[in-house]
Amino acid sequence: MSTPRVASHGTAPLGAALAQLVADLPDGVVVSDAAAIEKYREDFARDGSAGTPIAVVRAETAAHVQTALRWAAAHRVPVVPRGAGTGLSGGSSAVDGGITISLDRMRAIEIDPASQVAIVEPGALNVEVKGAAAEHGLWYPPDPSSYEICSIGGNLATNAGGLCCVKYGVTTDYVLGMDVVLADGSLVRLGGKQIKDVAGLSLLKLFVGSEGTLGIITRAVLRLIPAQTAGATLVSSFSTMTAASRAVVAIRSRVRASMLELMDHATINAVEDWRSHGLDRASGALLIAQSDAPGAACAAEVELMRESCEAAGAVEVFTTTDAEEASMFVAGRRNAFLALEQRGQRALRGCRGPGAAAP
Ligand SMILES: Cc1cc2nc3c(=O)[nH]c(=O)nc-3n(C[C@H](O)[C@H](O)[C@H](O)COP(=O)(O)OP(=O)(O)OC[C@H]3O[C@@H](n4cnc5c(N)ncnc54)[C@H](O)[C@@H]3O)c2cc1C
Repeated sequence: MSTPRVASHGTAPLGAALAQLVADLPDGVVVSDAAAIEKYREDFARDGSAGTPIAVVRAETAAHVQTALRWAAAHRVPVVPRGAGTGLSGGSSAVDGGITISLDRMRAIEIDPASQVAIVEPGALNVEVKGAAAEHGLWYPPDPSSYEICSIGGNLATNAGGLCCVKYGVTTDYVLGMDVVLADGSLVRLGGKQIKDVAGLSLLKLFVGSEGTLGIITRAVLRLIPAQTAGATLVSSFSTMTAASRAVVAIRSRVRASMLELMDHATINAVEDWRSHGLDRASGALLIAQSDAPGAACAAEVELMRESCEAAGAVEVFTTTDAEEASMFVAGRRNAFLALEQRGQRALRGCRGPGAAAP
């Protein structure tokens, strides 16, 4: 958070102060043993400069977050908010001498089908929100590739995008309201359940994507839409990225695809090295596109996509309405980051010499 993150934390006798924080919160909320803290030091960025916090507050309620922030402000202790720690830019890396406030225990989800909203605590995983919405025939569209392991609080704080954002937009397009605890411990409630709850400055938009620098999100009201049909998938290979890019431009000018994802030669091979998804290693580029248009419109859209790919010089075009078959290709794209990371780790070990351990 802004103030505490940048605070020049004098190393006053924090031991006594920390004991006060422990006493102010229920048993088990503040953890400070080395083994427990270690799990909260880094996120997926594996930033070697991540620090070691003096404690982790595993908040169970917004009131716990308020108590911790009031304490941190009083003692000028840096604070790092943390969701599931899947961020790729070190946003939830711990800070030496600071505290990490983890939201991983705040996971309640309530669906209001009449208003088509989900009221969600920040630690709930994206996949859990999707699952709860699906029970009411509803859908929460934002789908970062990490949707099975990342939290809604982290999604809001990073304005997460995903594979379907080409048609359905990103996280900010689905946030109707939120509760945020500010650095002084006060709680503000922004927006509400209605699309028209927008009077005044658009502070919601300010907080979405603010990476925890402005406050800690303790509750979110998320817009849901009716579940869409599974649709059809097109996979097309090209000898060059230029040809694939031409196909993307052509498709975008004719169709509102529900997914349009590209992988270049290096990514295809990294994915295949990591775990085989049946991708063509010789391809210069692979385009995965989907249509979720209803009824006959779906087949018509896929046909337009095929024409666009062929006109752009596609080597091969494959289409399917089989969800399982499609998911194999989509999984390849979803795993691209992990596969590239593995390749980087291998290269790093190669530089350090045989037998070197991963950092
Ligand atoms: C395999 C893989 C694939 C990915 N694919 C995508 C993708 O397709 N699109 C995409 O956008 N991202 C992607 N990411 C990145 C990451 O998953 C997202 O940024 C995600 O939104 C982070 O959520 P988190 O719960 O893990 O947050 P964390 O990593 O814990 O935190 C991320 C940031 O949000 C802040 N924060 C967390 N919770 C709160 C809160 N309650 N209040 C205030 N601030 C908070 C943290 O301080 C930090 O700055 C991917 C990551 C991986 C590992």
